[in-house]
Amino acid sequence: MAEVKATNVHWHEGDISRNDRWKALNACGATLWFTGLSGSGKSTIASALEQALVNQGINCYRLDGDNVRHGLNKNLGFSADDRAENIRRIGEVAKLFNDAGVLALTSFISPYRADRDQCRELHDSAGMTFIEVFVDTPLEVCEQRDPKGLYKKARAGEIKGFTGIDDPYEAPNKPELVLKTAEHSVDDCVKQCIELLAEAGVLKKA
Ligand code: ADP
Repeated sequence: MAEVKATNVHWHEGDISRNDRWKALNACGATLWFTGLSGSGKSTIASALEQALVNQGINCYRLDGDNVRHGLNKNLGFSADDRAENIRRIGEVAKLFNDAGVLALTSFISPYRADRDQCRELHDSAGMTFIEVFVDTPLEVCEQRDPKGLYKKARAGEIKGFTGIDDPYEAPNKPELVLKTAEHSVDDCVKQCIELLAEAGVLKKA
């Protein structure tokens, strides 16, 4: 839990409610949270999904692990505390995107169940939709793909605390969707996400 250092701050309600904003913009905020090992396919699927949805006129935006660590979270490393803070910030940013009526697609390893559950709770308590997608790819497959050469480095001891090698990955207990990327193509996985989003009623065209 992040230490609260901000005192004497007061929430300022705007002049337009979330409902009125979403109605006027024909938008619907929600978060599709991809979690899985490095190389499991989170970024690839999120990126293809983003393209498919934007082409359909859906206002969605991808928050990608590595990209966010280039800016907002550049001061965080990979210790358990830093990973928790990384995920906490993303949960808050996704929630803001939701409030603005944007469908946020987050692709982060997010290895710890408690951190993800905290993001779910954050959304739930704000009346927002949180959909957890477990990109369930066996470690052997991820390691074979090794798109960024990170497993090789981790095995050589050049990276410490690498998820799946010498840091744990806690799979979700009850994800809304499980994508088996070793068995299904990227297109197939994207289709499964779109079906789930349609069922959840969050695909409103701007
Ligand atoms: P992550 O974001 O989870 O670290 P990436 O998306 O960066 O993973 O890398 C996944 C790699 O696996 C890419 O090289 C991608 O082309 C490949 N791949 C093969 N099949 C699939 C699939 N069905 N879904 C997603 N990625 C796949």
